[in-house]
Amino acid sequence: MSNGIVYLVGAGPGDPALITLRGVECLKHADVIVYDYLANELLLCHAPETAERIYAGKIGGRHNQGQDEINSLLVAKAGEGKVVVRLKGGDPFVFGRGGEECEALRDAGIPFEVVPGVTAAVGASAYAGIPLTHREITASVAFVTGQEGKDKDESSIDWDRLSLGSGTVVFYMGVTTLRRNMLRLLEHGRSPDTPVALVRWATTPCQQVLVGTLSNIADRAEESGFKPPAVTIVGEVVALREKLQWFDRRPLCGRKIVVTRAAEQAGEFSAKLTARGATVLECPTIRLVEPESWQLLDLAIRELHSYDWLVLTSVNAVRYFFQRMHALGVDARALAGCRVCAVGPKTADEVQLFGIRPDLVPSDYKAEGVVSEFSRLDMLNNRILFPRADKARDVIPRDLKKMGAHVDSPVAYRNIFPERLPPETLFALEKRSVDCITFTSSSTVQNLAAMLGEELMLDMLKGVAVASIGPITSKSCRELGLKVDIEPQSYTLDALAEALEAHFC
Ligand code: SAH
Repeated sequence: MSNGIVYLVGAGPGDPALITLRGVECLKHADVIVYDYLANELLLCHAPETAERIYAGKIGGRHNQGQDEINSLLVAKAGEGKVVVRLKGGDPFVFGRGGEECEALRDAGIPFEVVPGVTAAVGASAYAGIPLTHREITASVAFVTGQEGKDKDESSIDWDRLSLGSGTVVFYMGVTTLRRNMLRLLEHGRSPDTPVALVRWATTPCQQVLVGTLSNIADRAEESGFKPPAVTIVGEVVALREKLQWFDRRPLCGRKIVVTRAAEQAGEFSAKLTARGATVLECPTIRLVEPESWQLLDLAIRELHSYDWLVLTSVNAVRYFFQRMHALGVDARALAGCRVCAVGPKTADEVQLFGIRPDLVPSDYKAEGVVSEFSRLDMLNNRILFPRADKARDVIPRDLKKMGAHVDSPVAYRNIFPERLPPETLFALEKRSVDCITFTSSSTVQNLAAMLGEELMLDMLKGVAVASIGPITSKSCRELGLKVDIEPQSYTLDALAEALEAHFC
């Protein structure tokens, strides 16, 4: 018997965090995903890499013909025994043609399940600060298609009842037909002063809200060139937005920020900026790879008992060092006689993940901080192991040697740069729509210069605020001709995010 099944999954309105846990679970087990224009593509990251990804927008030409083809595709793929996720924007059963797809599956004897999603009206309501119902204002809401009756003379909507019977009316697919629909509500008795909001790309960083009244919203939309996709919320509740607006009040809202980082690390910092409302364009400028040879590091790991100190100055150094220990069949016990210094709280946290509590965490999170802490100790004849990146600065080995210590600094990983920028980042820089670029280490800026060429980099970053995590990175920026606009007091990602907030507020 075939195990084929189709899950109709609501992707939510746009923000990729608004999918349900059940939806993510289905994606994790998918063999095939058929997704729509309105389903955020970022959600595909939950699916196995091997899953086949089919963009439904490309299937078929005309609308209806496309739907038949989608139905046949779902039936065919599930018929092959595959787990198929049909990922649809918002909720599958709210103007999503999910019902038709289920009918086709039932007719073909294919099992299916439906996973609800946050529909656009609900997403827009929350993120625009417009409750769809409110105890003192209205107790009813209607979801209506803006396209009904477009190709027919007679509409199947009872406009009399809709205009006066429902407190709040939300139109889907109603931007191109806005004028006609507003007129209908007016003709059927709704007051011309009724507040109206258009919410475009709700819940995403591109969210746009246009507010007016039943009598003027169509003119306003036309004047501002307002485009779909958007929902139109009609009703007294729209006035609450003035007080309840929050999404577009966040400090970095509307700011486009390029984050240059190692691909593996970008997520954490980007999340801090996104939470403050920024649109983040990730731009990996570093790729971490293994050393050309493990020989020196392996030698040191085999001799761990002979060292007095292990000095780790980055999360990456910690990861590569412990992974190599693991590969050699050695675990944390080999560090029993060795003290551990971790530079900065992040590095210290990472060390703890491997079962080691650092003995020393300098308060100044850079090489000079390490040197200054060690200068208070007697380092004469101490043996120090300092696993590091290939292009690291020499401050620690040089200064510790001056104190009489023996320092071994084998390469634990290398920083190399990717050959090109991601197309959307390049596009935004070329269009001059970027507000700020962040550099979190010297190599991020040096590699960007290497990737673009110095001259082109300077030209592309004209008018873009430069944010650097600390003085060393700032110095590298200046050496390449960049002026640093933002630099936090302490060299952490949290502090950098706060400094950005202060700069743009
Ligand atoms: N099943 C979807 C609706 C699909 S119909 C749902 O439940 O949300 C397509 C219409 O949905 C668009 O024309 C627009 O009116 C609305 N829509 C979908 N996503 C939207 C978004 N992020 N912001 C505003 N409107 C959206």
